[in-house]
Amino acid sequence: MRRRLFSILSMASLLVCAAVTALWVRSYFATDVLGRERMYTTPNTHERSTLYLIAQRGRLLYDRAWYFEQAPMTLELGERVYPMHHYTVPEFDFAEWLGRRDGFRLLGFGWSRTQRPLPEAVDATRAAVPCWALWLSSAVLPWVRWRQWRRRRARRRRGACLACGYDLRATPGRCPECGAVAAAAADANAAAA
Ligand SMILES: [Zn+2]
Repeated sequence: MRRRLFSILSMASLLVCAAVTALWVRSYFATDVLGRERMYTTPNTHERSTLYLIAQRGRLLYDRAWYFEQAPMTLELGERVYPMHHYTVPEFDFAEWLGRRDGFRLLGFGWSRTQRPLPEAVDATRAAVPCWALWLSSAVLPWVRWRQWRRRRARRRRGACLACGYDLRATPGRCPECGAVAAAAADANAAAA
């Protein structure tokens, strides 16, 4: 059962890894945005909250902001909501986007927060994760799974115990080292375990 779960997780992880690879390559040709916005306007206030997930130049960017302005408004009153949708924008400067005063930048990672008081209040958080970090973390499970598969294949070929690698040519049937039932039976046992 645990082995089964591990297989499913590594397969899912492999799919994520493939998606990250595709997005990574694409991010050098187009800046993709998944964005959602909400605005609320009264005669004297204007509130806006935004969330953007952006892929650009080998980075995934998170951009969440809240703006609140107090002044007489000439905008259309009431609430306007733009649900999450996808679009592309021209490439922009990463350092400028992240801001320079607060936060940090390191190896493609980045984080910043901007806060300003009324009458034009802002609370914005921006974060960046490099694609290589996402790629590495999603590649670990598939890599471990592939190594296991290769080791088991090698053991099967040379007639060794699939569980521990002990040479079974003299004692086919059951492994004297770890007690596992050999060959096909061992396979079935391992799959069931
Ligand atoms: Zn064994």
